[in-house]
Amino acid sequence: MGTCVEEIALEKERSVIDTWSRLYGFQEEDIRKAMKKTRTPVLWINGLDCTGCMESFLRGISSTTELLLDWISLEYSELLSSASGHQAESHKGRISEEYDGKFVLVIEGAIPLKDEYLTVAGKSVREEIIATAQKAKAVLAFGSCSAWGGLPAAKPNPTESVSIRELVPNVPVVLVPGCPPIADVMIGTLLHLAIYGEIPELDNKGRPKRFYRQTVHQVCHRKPFFDKGLFAESYDDEKALKGYCLFKLGCKGPSTFNACETLGWNGMRTSPIGAGFACIGCSEKNFWDKGPLCHRKVRAGAKIKAKAR
Ligand code: SF4
Ligand code: SF4
Repeated sequence: MGTCVEEIALEKERSVIDTWSRLYGFQEEDIRKAMKKTRTPVLWINGLDCTGCMESFLRGISSTTELLLDWISLEYSELLSSASGHQAESHKGRISEEYDGKFVLVIEGAIPLKDEYLTVAGKSVREEIIATAQKAKAVLAFGSCSAWGGLPAAKPNPTESVSIRELVPNVPVVLVPGCPPIADVMIGTLLHLAIYGEIPELDNKGRPKRFYRQTVHQVCHRKPFFDKGLFAESYDDEKALKGYCLFKLGCKGPSTFNACETLGWNGMRTSPIGAGFACIGCSEKNFWDKGPLCHRKVRAGAKIKAKAR
């Protein structure tokens, strides 16, 4: 019979395997094999951003702590590193040299082409990212700002911000858009790299297929109301309280690819639509520039054709 400590460790292992198989479809055998590997070094560099993506990342249900402590080695993060200043900067440089071709680079935020808008330790962040990306095993763009340019690149884009792909077109980048992205989508993407040593299968826009293969609308819990033509007319009417579809309030779920209605938010308890607000299409390219975030003109009396997708 094992000791109490061994039993706790086994139980933790069991729960990690169950959760990751269920959420991400990883095979138990692959997870067990990967448990014997050394942790994957990760450098997390911020461009112009609000740090909301990292805030979201820290609130995943699928074992953020296990990921951070047992599976990856987060070597540099302006938000989480306890070291700062020259110490942290020289460590970042050392990791990219020592683990050339072996570390994962996460980019959060858009990158300004005008260097005066973003320097860290007196150096251009744009130049740092270009140099570091060439050495990375994989580059992950976490959030709509790094994936598409996001808010910093919205018109009139005074900082001349660009996405990571525009900055380093010669480097393959996995896009994990969202404003912010769902924690378990970021975690699942990083875990895939840690377990399989390669990037997950991507769609034609470079997003992990597993998480971005459906529109929010296709699996929305309000879709039965959409199909019956039952719509809320305002956020505080009785129909909204009954959970009717938010299409007439400008919901962009039908044209937005994300896992909000499958993986969900806040420990899979809810989603923005579940909380009563329409999807604003935050994971789609240039959503800030696509007119009012929640607005749709529907002619009085016009019939909205329910179309199952
Ligand atoms: S329009 Fe929006 S609220 Fe209505 S079913 Fe589609 S995603 Fe859900
Ligand atoms: S529901 Fe739409 S706007 Fe809200 S987080 Fe999901 S994709 Fe973004």
